[in-house]
Amino acid sequence: MKEHIDKCLNMIDGICHLNEKKKLKEIGAFINTAFSITPNIYSPANLKYLFTYPDPIGIVADFLSNYINSNVLTEECSPVFTHCEAEIIKTLLSLVGYPEGDGVFYPGGSLSNLASVVLAVRKENIDLGKSAVIIPEHAHYSIEKSVKICGIRNILKVKTTAKGVVNLDHLKKMTQKVKDDNLNLVYYCCVLGTTNFGTFDPVEDIIEIFKKFYVTPWVHFDAAWGGSVYFSHDRSFYQKISCFSDSITLDFHKFLSAPLLCSALLVKNKSFLWEKEWSDQASYLYNSYQDEKYSLSLKSLQCSREAYAFKLWLMFKYHGFDYFQGLIQKYHHNRKAFKKQLNKNILYVVEPQYFNLCMWFIPKEMEVKESIKAYTREQLEKINRFNIAMYERIVEDGFMKITCSSFNNVAFIRIIVHHANLTENIISEIVAYLYKVHESISAKIDDQHLN
Ligand SMILES: *Cc1c(COP(=O)(O)O)cnc(C)c1O
Repeated sequence: MKEHIDKCLNMIDGICHLNEKKKLKEIGAFINTAFSITPNIYSPANLKYLFTYPDPIGIVADFLSNYINSNVLTEECSPVFTHCEAEIIKTLLSLVGYPEGDGVFYPGGSLSNLASVVLAVRKENIDLGKSAVIIPEHAHYSIEKSVKICGIRNILKVKTTAKGVVNLDHLKKMTQKVKDDNLNLVYYCCVLGTTNFGTFDPVEDIIEIFKKFYVTPWVHFDAAWGGSVYFSHDRSFYQKISCFSDSITLDFHKFLSAPLLCSALLVKNKSFLWEKEWSDQASYLYNSYQDEKYSLSLKSLQCSREAYAFKLWLMFKYHGFDYFQGLIQKYHHNRKAFKKQLNKNILYVVEPQYFNLCMWFIPKEMEVKESIKAYTREQLEKINRFNIAMYERIVEDGFMKITCSSFNNVAFIRIIVHHANLTENIISEIVAYLYKVHESISAKIDDQHLN
């Protein structure tokens, strides 16, 4: 790979000395090579990433707003796109069930998460030394990073259950510990759609624990990946539990296939988002000539901003809400189709409920038990090696792309079914291929045994 990258980069070296025609030819060749070695997200056999090929209307919006280089800072800089953002934020607030809320777009879920921690810390002008944060092990790493950036050093980790959600007993223990240590629990993140498993934390049970212990952290819902629940038929449950949260992160470049990057941070109480104290320091931007309502940067950690929201706004206008509902239904259908066919020599790491299928392939001669805990340490080592061997073979073949991750130190295979071009036929082909690899690795391991 390194070779290919170097070769690609070298193609463009020194082209400034060429004439216009040759320059363009070299750039064309460079682009061709660069595209050929970049993972092809348009292929329905690429089931590795949480993002997929972008919505074409989103690409048009992205291109146009970049062409005029519109800076979505204030109404003066960006008279239309600021209004598009305000409008789509309104739509999103009603979708998630934040009637008194507000929100702002961010370049990515990690930054939205950081902004949520910043809000939690600023809300009460907390004493950092006396503050603590409990973080579930399955939370995205941006949460711990954000908490550390904000200067909170008392970080307690809470364990993940075998079902891939927060361990409530352990959460109780950690909450008790925070109280025993005379600390103030300032922030807690519930994950709606974990990156690895696509599992959803039991929000109501978590809130129940906080009530019992008389702690009132800023509760953040990280729905960067799982946010499609607000776009599905059964969104009412998620709209109802929004009242337990203070903020929500949504990554539209993931579950709705907006072009990178397109994320939002929504807050339940609009007064927490606006930070007008900075406006005097930048009166060249924020002044009485502006309608302050559209000085969107006052809600953000950023100053200059791209038209992130315009991509989603145009996608909504063009497709209509039902289109997204249909897409999400299709992804759920893909998951069910995979699950139905991927049913032998497999132990699911967690029961698939979202767009992630996480599985341990079990070697052919080994029994598929009801749980991973039922295997001996020696067998687990074998399962671990087996899945790594399968993964390496899949990478070598290049027929499809998937992820190799691990849970409790046993490697597993992850497939993300969130791809609008997947059909039942392609799913069958992929499953047949996976079982072929399974067969061949089983045989290879048997051979090794004989030797
Ligand atoms: C992907 C992801 C993030 C980070 O979002 P980026 O847009 O990649 O910065 C945060 N939380 C969860 C649960 C995610 O899956």
